[in-house]
Amino acid sequence: MDNHTYDVIVIGAGPVREDVADRVVQGGLSAAVVEREPVGGECSYWACMPTKALLRSAAALRAAGQVPGSREVVTGDVDLVAVLCGAAAADEVAASRVTAGVRPGWGPRG
Ligand SMILES: Cc1cc2nc3c(=O)[nH]c(=O)nc-3n(C[C@H](O)[C@H](O)[C@H](O)COP(=O)(O)OP(=O)(O)OC[C@H]3O[C@@H](n4cnc5c(N)ncnc54)[C@H](O)[C@@H]3O)c2cc1C
Repeated sequence: MDNHTYDVIVIGAGPVREDVADRVVQGGLSAAVVEREPVGGECSYWACMPTKALLRSAAALRAAGQVPGSREVVTGDVDLVAVLCGAAAADEVAASRVTAGVRPGWGPRG
């Protein structure tokens, strides 16, 4: 195994720590990020993205129910199974973006 020396070691690759590593490198130092899970932290997999996907259907239904022209035809309720499938799909998109190495701004620098 090769030995490397870095100015800063960032433990975890969540969104806050991404910013920390980015600022370190922009400031002219080198940084290594150590992550035990897929890159992205809780926001991508358990927090921000999945919860927003869960809320979106209810928000869209509520908005449609407040507008003349659409509220007359919006009579049903949220389809919970479809909502959960949508949230799972959003999670997979986040995971595939990260595992495909296309997360914006990430790559060898510094
Ligand atoms: C339900 C929910 C919804 C949210 N919605 C939003 C939102 O809409 N907008 C928003 O801005 N924020 C939102 N947040 C908050 C957001 O998720 C956090 O602020 C953000 O993820 C914190 O980033 P972080 O980098 O500090 O830590 P984290 O995202 O927690 O990442 C820490 C990383 O460190 C890794 N790690 C920890 N210890 C070690 C170790 N010893 N070795 C290797 N790796 C390690 C973990 O595996 C993890 O990947 C939400 C939070 C929750 C719970």
